[in-house]
Amino acid sequence: MSGEAIITGLNALQADGLACVVCGADYLRVRVPHVPLGRSVTSSQVFACVGCCPDDAQRTAGGVLP
Ligand SMILES: [Zn+2]
Repeated sequence: MSGEAIITGLNALQADGLACVVCGADYLRVRVPHVPLGRSVTSSQVFACVGCCPDDAQRTAGGVLP
């Protein structure tokens, strides 16, 4: 298993890997450590802050985003 989940329901920044897919933090403005979670529908790698609990994020991303 590659773990390359395709994550849907993202906004433009999230889909480009420029914002957290969980809390929406803008990585261009907020310097926070983040980890890759998978890929968007456009094949860009997407990220979540380490504090956003990547394990949970992988399960919930695309389903419970505001
Ligand atoms: Zn976050």
